[in-house]
Amino acid sequence: MAIAYGVTHLDDLTSLYCNAISDQITQDKMYKILRQAITFLITNGILTLTENCVNIGSYVELELFLRNYSLRAIPPKWSVKQQQDKNAIFTIDARKVLREALPGNLLINDGRFWSVKTIDQRRKKIIVEELLIQKNSFDVSKIEKNKCFSPEFSFGRFTQEVSFQKMTIQCGDLQIVQKPSVINSYNPVTGFLPIDLKNDHLKVSSDIVFTENSTGIVISFPENILQDVLKHFYFERFHFLRLIAKVLLLEVTRELNISNKELVNSLSWKKGNEAIAIYDLAGPSGNSQKIFLHLELLLRSILNKLVSCDCSVGCGACFGDLAKIFQYNPKTFLLKWLEKVLN
Ligand SMILES: [Zn+2]
Repeated sequence: MAIAYGVTHLDDLTSLYCNAISDQITQDKMYKILRQAITFLITNGILTLTENCVNIGSYVELELFLRNYSLRAIPPKWSVKQQQDKNAIFTIDARKVLREALPGNLLINDGRFWSVKTIDQRRKKIIVEELLIQKNSFDVSKIEKNKCFSPEFSFGRFTQEVSFQKMTIQCGDLQIVQKPSVINSYNPVTGFLPIDLKNDHLKVSSDIVFTENSTGIVISFPENILQDVLKHFYFERFHFLRLIAKVLLLEVTRELNISNKELVNSLSWKKGNEAIAIYDLAGPSGNSQKIFLHLELLLRSILNKLVSCDCSVGCGACFGDLAKIFQYNPKTFLLKWLEKVLN
């Protein structure tokens, strides 16, 4: 970046980079890091060094380098404000907007209640009005969240793919599109009223779409394998997918040392098109690529742990209480599914 601004002399670069911080120890550390980075870039042909001046070596190499080391974006927070106010009252995680902060929804902050009036998708703003509700008369835990349609996943070019017996895993640039299906609109007199967006005259509201882009994997289950495994519990497939995702992510944390917080997961439970998407939080980081490469190993170690634990529905020694997610013999169904996939 400094080069783009015309700072090319190594001494100038060093002082620009290191002197921003006043304490000597940190400066020394940063100097070391800078030397290492520049050495790496020169040995890879991305930069050149002549008479102590750095310059771009090869634009092709630079582009390749930038493509593989995408800068990670922080997911934007949406600001919540009243129409007349300049400043935000509080902020909401972008991921929660679809479930909690659409027009009609009730938000709580600092013990005050806010009704969402409109949202501005482009500016990432949520306009609210204060609702005067008696704090003691309202049970906060009863706040209802919106429901969403099963998300749509699509891959960019250069997608990698592996197929197991009854499962396909794709990995690459992933786009996840989510839409609300039911909005829980709050009114102090009537309470929560679910508005069904499949209803035609409310189609306007269904323009609210939330798109996420990252690198990820999608595990899809063709050939109605879930129907084979779950039989007459097939209507519970959403919870079964959640169970698989939960167990898999726990194993990812244990075996690959990737924190759950680094990943996002999403489920599609359309009949015959069931899928689990796992993708990197806030842009490509290489985590889901790592899962893709180790998936078979992960599934086998899940199988081993389930088989070698004496419990019936999951316990602290294996994967926790699995009945909380899927109430009907979770362990039995997981084993049945794993045997079909891995055999
Ligand atoms: Zn157990």
